[in-house]
Amino acid sequence: MTLRTLESLGSLAGRTVIVRCDLNVPLADGEITDDGRVRASLPTINALTSQGARVVVISHLGRPDGASDPRYSLAPVAERLGELLGSPVTFATDTVGDAAKDAVASLADGGIVVLENLRFNPEETSKSDEERAAFAAKLAAFGDAFVSDGFGVVHRKQASVYELAKALPSAAGLLIVAELDVLDRLTGNPERPYTVVLGGSKVSDKLGVIGHLLPRVNTLLIGGGMLFTFLKAQGFEVGSSLLERDQVETVRGYLQKAQELGVELILPTDVVVASKFGGDAEHEVRPVSSIEDTPWGASGLGLDIGPDTAAKFAEIIRESVTVFWNGPMGVFELEPFAAGTKQIALALTETRGLSVVGGGDSAAAVRALGFDDDQFGHISTGGGASLEFLEGKTLPGLEVLGWQS
Ligand code: ADP
Ligand code: MG
Repeated sequence: MTLRTLESLGSLAGRTVIVRCDLNVPLADGEITDDGRVRASLPTINALTSQGARVVVISHLGRPDGASDPRYSLAPVAERLGELLGSPVTFATDTVGDAAKDAVASLADGGIVVLENLRFNPEETSKSDEERAAFAAKLAAFGDAFVSDGFGVVHRKQASVYELAKALPSAAGLLIVAELDVLDRLTGNPERPYTVVLGGSKVSDKLGVIGHLLPRVNTLLIGGGMLFTFLKAQGFEVGSSLLERDQVETVRGYLQKAQELGVELILPTDVVVASKFGGDAEHEVRPVSSIEDTPWGASGLGLDIGPDTAAKFAEIIRESVTVFWNGPMGVFELEPFAAGTKQIALALTETRGLSVVGGGDSAAAVRALGFDDDQFGHISTGGGASLEFLEGKTLPGLEVLGWQS
């Protein structure tokens, strides 16, 4: 690993250090439903404050439209951070405005301020290099050094991830180092059999990685929203289930390639079909050959893998020595459609080798279903980032910290 680490920044006592965290936690009615990402940010923040650094924490939350939006305020996250650290954390109600300037100027040695959501500023994610650089320069003016620790965003070329790292002496934080330690084991020469389980709803994002993963894995298990694009590619009708029509051809190519490579690409044989999207929906288990053969016909929605599929996937996972899982198998947030995800999570806790869970919703799912983090080899804070890393892509947010793959 060639990453620049905290030590490379020298003594930070009395210096102001900007830390990019990924505090993009799931919220329901303003309450944090899974604070895993806040917890994951603690080691780096503690390492800095214990040296007497003044810490400025920056993060995004959700996808506000480049404008201030109270639903995506980091205020509750700052509060939780203070509780978890057991020390005061101030919150600035803007990102680079007067509130932020005042809060940073009032920091004492060892003090911590959280600035408001980076994405309230359209420049953070602007397509224009100049705009991003200009925004990064405003952030850089707050500090003497930059620590990048938001693993979930290192695959994004965004101002606080990429340009800011160029604008100041910069290094990777402890979370990024820990994440890469594990993911490196999955890319080098993973112990076999190596199984990757994919699900979730960011279908087009994730379909792209399959082509790259195929040559590296022994078995690929497909669940979640993307399974319907695969079933369609095999000629099945999928009712009103999530479907990316323009990806059907690509997926057909993956099925072909898997066969050529001798990779087992396994699709569900049964799914839970519902009358509508909702916890009170009527639902029944259908074989994939007759998803539309229900009381709701083509308006039926596939919202989970069925019990036969879950049992088969679980058996394969238990027999694997390396497992990477990204993306819930169904709409786990709704109790009737959580069983598939729960079975898969349980199987991961039972493998004899390395089990890794990646993805914000996947991590939230295993915690919501009652599992403990330490039942898994590793729970990654990054979904897209970990997938792109496993693909062997160069991630801009790591490259800028000296990483060479
Ligand atoms: P991660 O954050 O772990 O990378 P994603 O963001 O891709 O995962 O997907 C998580 C979401 O996928 C969950 O909110 C879940 O409800 C949804 N999901 C899973 N299966 C389905 C399905 N069959 N139809 C619609 N949504 C689904
Ligand atoms: Mg997600």
